[in-house]
Amino acid sequence: MKTKKYLLLILCTILFSCSNDEDEPISIPKPNLQSGVVISFDDDYVDEWFEVNNILQKYDWKATFFVTRFNQLSDAKIQKLKVLKNEGHEIAGHGLNHINAPTFISSFGTSEYLNQEIFPMLNLMKNNDLYPTSFAYPYGARNSTTDKLLLNEFQIIRGTTYGSSNPASQNCYYNKSRFVFGLGIDKNYSHYSIPYFLSLLKYAKNNNKIVIFYAHKPVSSFKNDYETEYQTLIELCNYVKTNNMKFYKISELYDIQNSI
Ligand SMILES: [Zn+2]
Repeated sequence: MKTKKYLLLILCTILFSCSNDEDEPISIPKPNLQSGVVISFDDDYVDEWFEVNNILQKYDWKATFFVTRFNQLSDAKIQKLKVLKNEGHEIAGHGLNHINAPTFISSFGTSEYLNQEIFPMLNLMKNNDLYPTSFAYPYGARNSTTDKLLLNEFQIIRGTTYGSSNPASQNCYYNKSRFVFGLGIDKNYSHYSIPYFLSLLKYAKNNNKIVIFYAHKPVSSFKNDYETEYQTLIELCNYVKTNNMKFYKISELYDIQNSI
């Protein structure tokens, strides 16, 4: 008898809870951010970017190219940028004349900076069917005034960071902000180390984070400053692909900022 009552109680509990389902708030857990990498390149090494794309295509990589001196690019180079964009890469802005933003603004003001460095670049690129929504600071030079100014014109702004602090305290990860720092991977940086770069990717993989790297001129073997060897890029891309991480374009950080 006791068992029957107990069963009845359980049945009622189940029925009662079922009947209340519609009133209960449905909480859907937000999915974890897919770990990954943003690989970005600065300046105007269009031919070299195009070349390295042929090598890295097999990793299904995606890159972001921050272009400067767009007014000095040949038609052939502009065509190559369009091809890269059509293949899924991002073409972004790095200033028309590679001006140091805080230095220029302290002498000439914000309006002059926008009129000389930003608006003409945006217009030229738009006229070529390239619509940059992201910006990287030349020389990594910035301050709170330039951040505020440029976040009115772009969705995502990238600065630079250096050093080989342990992965947990590196600030080259996407930080749920529209302003992010990239870590340089050119071979001349004192923190240059492929194992270190891979340790950052491993930390990202284990903690659902996105590492942001930046480079300049891809080369087969390093001779000058601001050059990144193919081998560095190959090892990074290989790690990302074999570990099922994602290649993000930098503008995708803006799209996901409210979804995590
Ligand atoms: Zn630059």
